[in-house]
Amino acid sequence: MKRTILLIEDNEQNRYLTTYLLRNKGYDVVSADDGHAGIARAEEGGVDLILLDIQLPVMDGYAVAARLREGPATSRIPIVAVTSYAMAGDREKALASGCNGYIEKPINPETFVSEVERYFLNSGTAERT
Ligand code: MN
Repeated sequence: MKRTILLIEDNEQNRYLTTYLLRNKGYDVVSADDGHAGIARAEEGGVDLILLDIQLPVMDGYAVAARLREGPATSRIPIVAVTSYAMAGDREKALASGCNGYIEKPINPETFVSEVERYFLNSGTAERT
């Protein structure tokens, strides 16, 4: 079974690059361009990890992470914040809201996937079938 990553990101270029990098390494990628759609997709199931932009319209990433942590269907899914906020306080805020980790934008295409892979519940690369 391929692992599925849910990408919640409102910027189309960022979605394109991130999706490309992850698919190239054998992951299935589903995406949502706002927090409500992302939460709904996570609740449908089959998501192994969530990449969460913090700067989102209407509902920011902190609120999305907090909501995901409250939901019985989503509370255990690893969440990795991906954000251009570089301040230490924002990192702490992401962790406090329920994110497991933090990757800074702009992402480094050379190392991005391996950074993401550190956060799977069972570490390792994508299983290929
Ligand atoms: Mn954004």
